[in-house]
Amino acid sequence: KDPMKKLGVALVGLGMYSTGQLGPALKQTKHCRLSAVVTGSPEKGRQWARDYGFPESSVYGYDTMGRLADNKDVDIVYVVTPPALHARDCIAAAKAGKHVLCEKPMEVSTAQCDVIINACKAAGVKLSIGYRLHFDPFHEELRKLVRSQEFGPFMTMTGGFAFSMQKAQWRAEKALAGGGPLMDLGIYVVQEACMAAGATPVAATATVHPKKRPEFFKDVEESISWTLEFPNGAKCESFTSYDAGRNDFRAEAKGGWFELKPAFNYGGIAGATSRGPLVIAGVNQQALQMDDFALCVLNGQESRVGGAMGRRDMAIVEAIYASAAGGGKRVE
Ligand code: NDP
Repeated sequence: KDPMKKLGVALVGLGMYSTGQLGPALKQTKHCRLSAVVTGSPEKGRQWARDYGFPESSVYGYDTMGRLADNKDVDIVYVVTPPALHARDCIAAAKAGKHVLCEKPMEVSTAQCDVIINACKAAGVKLSIGYRLHFDPFHEELRKLVRSQEFGPFMTMTGGFAFSMQKAQWRAEKALAGGGPLMDLGIYVVQEACMAAGATPVAATATVHPKKRPEFFKDVEESISWTLEFPNGAKCESFTSYDAGRNDFRAEAKGGWFELKPAFNYGGIAGATSRGPLVIAGVNQQALQMDDFALCVLNGQESRVGGAMGRRDMAIVEAIYASAAGGGKRVE
């Protein structure tokens, strides 16, 4: 394939993240362009076609995604629907022969992650998860410290990501979200802990906190604390909630420390190490993430944030929920 060619991307689900971040980011990418959308609202789709300059014939519904197979202008399908719909939409994309970018959390169970992985394998298409922080330079500093082991291994970690949810939405419905803030926000802290430890945890212990608004969070947790243990004995104390404000990560080693606060934003991340403040220019995380996947497709390489990583994180989430359900017992 021509390495200078811009790959066509179809966004599936034109909600907050597509509208506020991914659409605008696609205008900043070097190797991608928005060439189609999949939406339950044809009217919204036609507006996107006008705004982004693609034909109205490239507006699809969830039930007509099979027709993407005939659209040569689409190389990558980016699934941005609620988590419990990711498998349905990723399968449709893979069956249409398109490479798949799937938002986090990958799905709502490891079994459903396997369904996505297998569908992509069977169709011979690439799969990547929307883990944008792997393309952020502040988080790259952490990965550099892990690679160089300059401070030694990070043994003591803390992290929290939480916000106060006010409006009713799928995030508070188990059927669509798979769980509460752990699925949606806590997964970032899980990701970061694995990044800092440079490993996959061996055990989880967790406690769900009493609900302040049980009528709002009927079948999902409102707040949860958990600890991950890594093979070398490192631990990460973590917290997430839909009734609080947290956005931080800290990792301590014998030879130094690393901290980000805010840690998980699209932009405006700030932080320091024991050597001093991190002075780094901001980037468009989503543009870099999509360009990286486009290059993987063009060069025949696997994404560094592939299906196996999405599945790993779901296995950790399942262990955290199992521990909480078991009254805080240690789950290996
Ligand atoms: P929104 O609720 O704002 O949008 C979801 C969209 O999915 C809807 O607008 C709708 O699009 C489509 N949809 C299809 N079926 C349903 C349904 N049954 N209920 C609700 N929506 C449906 O959610 P977000 O955009 O915030 O989140 C979407 C995905 O992106 C999630 O997986 C989320 O975790 C992820 N996300 C990732 C972020 C990141 O930083 N990586 C940040 C924010 C979200 P339409 O009307 O076009 O059919």
